[in-house]
Amino acid sequence: MTKYQFSNISLVVSTIIIVALDYFIGYWLILLLIPLFAFYISLLVMGSASIRFNFYLKSLKRAAIPGKIVALTFDDGPDEKITPKILEILDFYNIKAGFFCVGSKIEESPKIVKTVFSKGHVVGNHSYSHSKIFDLRSTKNMIIEIEKTNDLIEKTIGKKPTLFRPPFGVTNPLLAKAIKTTGVISLGWSLRSWDTNGKIDKVVSRLKRKVHAGDIILFHDNRENTPEILSRFLPYLIDNGYQVVPLDKLLKVKAYEEN
Ligand SMILES: [Zn+2]
Repeated sequence: MTKYQFSNISLVVSTIIIVALDYFIGYWLILLLIPLFAFYISLLVMGSASIRFNFYLKSLKRAAIPGKIVALTFDDGPDEKITPKILEILDFYNIKAGFFCVGSKIEESPKIVKTVFSKGHVVGNHSYSHSKIFDLRSTKNMIIEIEKTNDLIEKTIGKKPTLFRPPFGVTNPLLAKAIKTTGVISLGWSLRSWDTNGKIDKVVSRLKRKVHAGDIILFHDNRENTPEILSRFLPYLIDNGYQVVPLDKLLKVKAYEEN
């Protein structure tokens, strides 16, 4: 049972109890429904905004195996300018990561996705449009986006991915249904780098402070600052005894469908 289903059942049961008690004790008791519904609505909003909360569906977000290990993931590419720079840094440290690609960008730069795959990184699905209103779409449209991107990836690298990362990490019951229907595995993260809108110094020191064994770290391979952040953060990880392992190894999942 998901936290969402549990919340719905709890709301119905609590409402019935309050209404029943209200009949026996006094009508003022009905006022308790106001904080109850307010709490329920805030749960729905929080559950939608944070994939880490695992509210509507279960998303993988931490290591499935023990050890002082972490995995790196890069969203929103492929990007002609930034992705190659990141690949170069990862090559230097002999690190394999996960790249969650946007379907429309794969159409523009399939060669980069081929390179990512040929270097041994995991290629995953990050929707076709990465629209800001992706989570407002119907289940049918979400399914179309997931399948279209999976087909594009298969056409490009010859493998169909199993991992899907929801755009912006936003989830809801419609997406939960789309994920179930398509059979993809939802992937979240445990540590967000904030490479999207932070100053490099601040981002790097925050990453150093927050990183823990088992983390899946979220970066973006279409952001100007990300290569430098990575160049400064990776030596810290290595000096402090962290092993940066391939995403599929850390999750103990197969990154592609078996043929
Ligand atoms: Zn994204």
